[in-house]
Amino acid sequence: MLRAHREIMLRFSLFGIPVTIQPWFWVTIALLGGALHSATPDALLETLIFMVVAAISILVHEFGHALTGRRLGGGYPEVVLWAFGGLAYNHGGRFTRWQRFWMILMGPGAGFLFLGLVAIALILVFGFQGGCNILTVGAIGKVVFPVSEEVLAFLQPHHRPWWVVSSVIWINLWWGLINLLPVLPLDGGRIAELWMRTPRQAYLLSATCAGGVALLFLGRGDLYATLLFGFLAFQSFKHFQELR
Ligand SMILES: [Zn+2]
Repeated sequence: MLRAHREIMLRFSLFGIPVTIQPWFWVTIALLGGALHSATPDALLETLIFMVVAAISILVHEFGHALTGRRLGGGYPEVVLWAFGGLAYNHGGRFTRWQRFWMILMGPGAGFLFLGLVAIALILVFGFQGGCNILTVGAIGKVVFPVSEEVLAFLQPHHRPWWVVSSVIWINLWWGLINLLPVLPLDGGRIAELWMRTPRQAYLLSATCAGGVALLFLGRGDLYATLLFGFLAFQSFKHFQELR
């Protein structure tokens, strides 16, 4: 069993940093990419595109942590993608509070920079208004400027390059922003923890915020996000009580 597990584990090294992708990572992002509803070859391709974009975006995020950490505090970083997303470890590095702050922030930061590069590329290809329209449709489903024929053709539901671009926008913007909420163990929660007097306070803030966010998602009918934040609220509250 253990051997079979090792064989399907993907391992490689990038910028001198070892990366491991565990099999369950692919299962989770396939489910997030709508694998259960992929009944046609086109829908399957859409799920596969989402999976590849998600894997690359999560790697960009973790390398934001890993490279910033190695630069500021030394040590030996390691990146692991597992069932619940990505993790960047730093073995043996030494950090001040502000260095830790930058290391944590540069995870979502790297995702926003990646999105910025895609935005520049879109503006170079489609002009300022066209590029902005594509970005806002990907982010919030709305255009902000009059739409040209060229942009309208790009935004057609069956246009494959649009699947790639919309996944890049959605993942790097929304996952990046949600990850900055002061909820543990998200990056925002780890940043908030740096300035809390006790870990207990950080868990109380985390439980309150996660509970509120779970209710917001419940109101929007987003079951997956409600369960995720409900679980994080429960977990933070448990830690809060244990630290009494
Ligand atoms: Zn992170």
